[in-house]
Amino acid sequence: MQVRGEEFPAFAASLRLPESCRGTRDRAVSAGRETLSTLYRDAALADAHSPTLQLGVSMLVEGGRIAWIRPADSEEDPGDAEVIDAGGTTIVPGMVDCHSHLTLPGGSHWIERIGDTPEQLLRHAEHNAKLQTHAGVRWARDVGAPIGVDPVDGRERALSLGLRDRWRGHADYPYVRAAGTWVTRAGTLPAGLTAEAEDADELLGLSLEQLDDGADLVKLYLDGPDPDTAPWTANEVRRVVSAAHDRGAKVTAHAGRLSGSRVCAEAGVDCIEHGFELDEDCARLMAERRIALVSTLTVLKSWTSFARTTRIERFASPEGRKRVAERWEAARHSIRLAHAAGVLLGAGTDFGGGSARANQLAWEVEALTEAGLEPWEALASVTWKAGEILGEPEAGQIHEGGPGDFFLIHGDPLSDLSALWRVWRVAWAAR
Ligand SMILES: [Zn+2]
Repeated sequence: MQVRGEEFPAFAASLRLPESCRGTRDRAVSAGRETLSTLYRDAALADAHSPTLQLGVSMLVEGGRIAWIRPADSEEDPGDAEVIDAGGTTIVPGMVDCHSHLTLPGGSHWIERIGDTPEQLLRHAEHNAKLQTHAGVRWARDVGAPIGVDPVDGRERALSLGLRDRWRGHADYPYVRAAGTWVTRAGTLPAGLTAEAEDADELLGLSLEQLDDGADLVKLYLDGPDPDTAPWTANEVRRVVSAAHDRGAKVTAHAGRLSGSRVCAEAGVDCIEHGFELDEDCARLMAERRIALVSTLTVLKSWTSFARTTRIERFASPEGRKRVAERWEAARHSIRLAHAAGVLLGAGTDFGGGSARANQLAWEVEALTEAGLEPWEALASVTWKAGEILGEPEAGQIHEGGPGDFFLIHGDPLSDLSALWRVWRVAWAAR
C-alpha cells in the first residue's frame, strides 16, 4: 500500500523546518546568490594538509564562497561585510562523516531501532541532521537505510533517498550522498528491512535496483550468516562492481571480518567499510588497487563505554568486556597496517547502524590517533580524504574560491583533537 504525504498533511508538515529556522535558512540560501559577505577576523586555521597551525588568519566569505584568506594584519578592504571577531578560535573545514546512517538514532538499543516505523525513522533523521550540522559535520555519506514507504513522497525505497532530495540546498542540513539500503545475503540481518539476495544474480539485480531508486553508490554487506565465511565470491562481487561502474557509481562494502575484506580486495570494490580485521596482504592489495578504507573505530569506543553505562551482557560481563577489548586491539592494528601500506583512509562514526550518535565524529578522530595517526592525518580522514572517497573534491577543503563551509572551535586540533568537541559556531554555505 502506498501512503502519500498529502494524505497525512499534519505529519508531512511536522517534517518541515520549524518556522524559527526558516529565516536563517533563507538568508543562507540567498547568501549563495547575493553579495552578503562575512569577514572572520584573526583566527587560527587548521586545514588538515599539514601539522602546522596557521595563526592570525582573516577570511572573507562572499556569496557562500571564500573570497580571500589573508594575514589578519594585512587584510584587504572587506567592504560592508559583517565582521566576526574570531580571536582565539581555530577554523576547521566542514567535516565529512564517511559512514553515517541518517535514519537511525544509535544508542545501546541501536539494533531494535532499525525496526522503527518510517515516520519515526524520518524524525530520527531530522534530529541527526541538527546534531551533525552543530557538531561541524557538513557532509554525510549514508551507507544504509531501511526500506520503507516514505510518508512524504509516498515512494517505497531506502528512506535516506527522499531525505537527501528534500534537504538539498538547505544550509541547516548536511549534504548527503546515499547508498540506498544494504544489499545483504538473505539470513544475515533481520528480515524485511534490507535488500536480501539469495544468489549472485539477485545480488547483481538488487544492487542495480538501488541505483534505479536513485542511490548515489551501492553498499554491499560482506559479512554473512557465518561470520568466518564471506557470503559471496570475488567473482560474484566483481560483477556488481563492473555493472555499477558502467553506470558511473561506486561500490562500497561492509566487511568486519578478514574473509569479507579479502573478497572485496580481490573483487576491486571502491571502498571497504570497517575493515576491523585486515592483515598485511589485504592492506597491500587495497593500496595497489586504490581501494579506500573507511574506519569506524567509534563503534568499539562506544561499546567499551557501555560496559559502564548498561547491563547488556555482551558489553558489561567480564567476557563481553574482554571480547570488545580484543576487537578494539585488532581494529587499531588494522588501521595501522592500512595506514602504513598507503591506503586512502576516510573515517566515520557508523552512527545509527552502530551505537554511536550523530554528533560524535570527534570521537573517531581521537580514536585514529590511538591507532597511530598524527592528529593532522586523522583530521584529513574526516575532511579532504573523505571528500576524495565521496568523489567531491571540494568537500573538507578550505581555499580561496572554494565553498565557505567551515566551523570554528576552541583549541589547536593539530596537537589536541579534543578541541573538535568545543564548537563555537558553524559557517555553512548552501548549494
Ligand atoms: Zn554502518
